[in-house]
Amino acid sequence: MLETLQNAVGEHDLIFPLMFGARGSCMIGGALSTNAGGSNVVRYGSARALCLGIEAVMPDGSIIDTLHGLRKDNTGYDLRDLLIGAEGTLGIITAATLQLFVQPVAQATAFVSLRSLQDAPALLNILQDRTGGAVEAFEYMPEPVVDAICQAFPDTQRPLNGTAETGLLIEVASTRPIDAEETEGGSPRLNADLLSVLADQIESGAVLDGVVATSERQRTALWQMREAVLESITHAGKAYHFDLALPLQNVALFVSNMDAEIAEFGFRTLTIGHLGDGNLHYALAAPGGVDFDSLPLAAARSAVLDRLAAMGGSFSAEHGIGQSKLDLMRLQKQPSQLAALQAIKHALDPKSIMNPGKLVPMEPVPQHMKRTAR
Ligand SMILES: Cc1cc2nc3c(=O)[nH]c(=O)nc-3n(C[C@H](O)[C@H](O)[C@H](O)COP(=O)(O)OP(=O)(O)OC[C@H]3O[C@@H](n4cnc5c(N)ncnc54)[C@H](O)[C@@H]3O)c2cc1C
Repeated sequence: MLETLQNAVGEHDLIFPLMFGARGSCMIGGALSTNAGGSNVVRYGSARALCLGIEAVMPDGSIIDTLHGLRKDNTGYDLRDLLIGAEGTLGIITAATLQLFVQPVAQATAFVSLRSLQDAPALLNILQDRTGGAVEAFEYMPEPVVDAICQAFPDTQRPLNGTAETGLLIEVASTRPIDAEETEGGSPRLNADLLSVLADQIESGAVLDGVVATSERQRTALWQMREAVLESITHAGKAYHFDLALPLQNVALFVSNMDAEIAEFGFRTLTIGHLGDGNLHYALAAPGGVDFDSLPLAAARSAVLDRLAAMGGSFSAEHGIGQSKLDLMRLQKQPSQLAALQAIKHALDPKSIMNPGKLVPMEPVPQHMKRTAR
């Protein structure tokens, strides 16, 4: 289990920085097979980036072993990368060599209300610049999502006194002892640095309000709120969940235009995101008093996918394909890429005994569904 690994390496002042709400239940093989992401990808990358080697049992019973952990190994196709993110369709991962990092000695966590989502990329750059690339999380948590959390968990304390239409949960972390030292104001240097960046941004008008956690209890409360998001959206009623990726500079335009278009279909949206990676969890929900099933989901879904494709996005950022997105693979994946995926699956698993019917649609794609190759 992922959390077991994290607890074990923690005893040696190390971290395995794959961070998401399922870490207390998911297995390392599952996280690798879905190339899981989460809130720390902005600094450490997805599961793929954290894996230096795997052992896997292939459909013919042979064993592939790349556990050596070499950083350089240009001896043909990268079979480790092929099996990571394959959702169990090519083989079963039985062991992995994982990359560990030194545990940070200082962490500073803030919740801010941004003037506009358009200002987010600039704020991320400033934070990276002023902290030497120490941003560990840059999570989008707008007001409707904080509302949903407060409704699902009434004991939740809102992070700010007022509303935050564009709320962001930010964390920076450092392994340098100097960042943990107390400044004249009494707070650790990293906290003071984060406060100073936010003060400048309040001055410039990009940040409207913000709070920096001054204790581990406050930091934990902010993260508990973040990790309660999925449960809270589920609690709010039926919803259709997209897991989208966009170039970071297109995110604000996508959200404002898409939200307006989605409202015309009668839905409301509940959006959160690993914003530092341009990853949005974009949920279509029914407004209060409206039956979700009475709304035109198919049309709204198409509108989202069309705009996403036009803006250079991906319909699966980190949750993978499984069965539920097979139709999107047929519709949106470049025919050349789809053909290559089918050829790989057929070559390695000719009898289709590994997780059949998942990830790669194997039947020929009908002519009318084919997208023009770019
Ligand atoms: C509350 C919550 C929050 C989440 N947040 C995030 C998030 O922020 N980011 C993110 O990326 N994901 C998130 N997830 C999804 C999470 O990444 C996956 O649930 C998890 O990584 C999958 O691991 P698992 O052990 O549960 O795998 P399973 O669900 O059991 O399997 C997932 C897939 O991997 C295959 N598989 C499993 N084990 C192996 C193996 N050993 N070898 C080959 N194939 C295998 C299975 O066949 C299946 O196709 C979240 C999930 C929950 C419940």
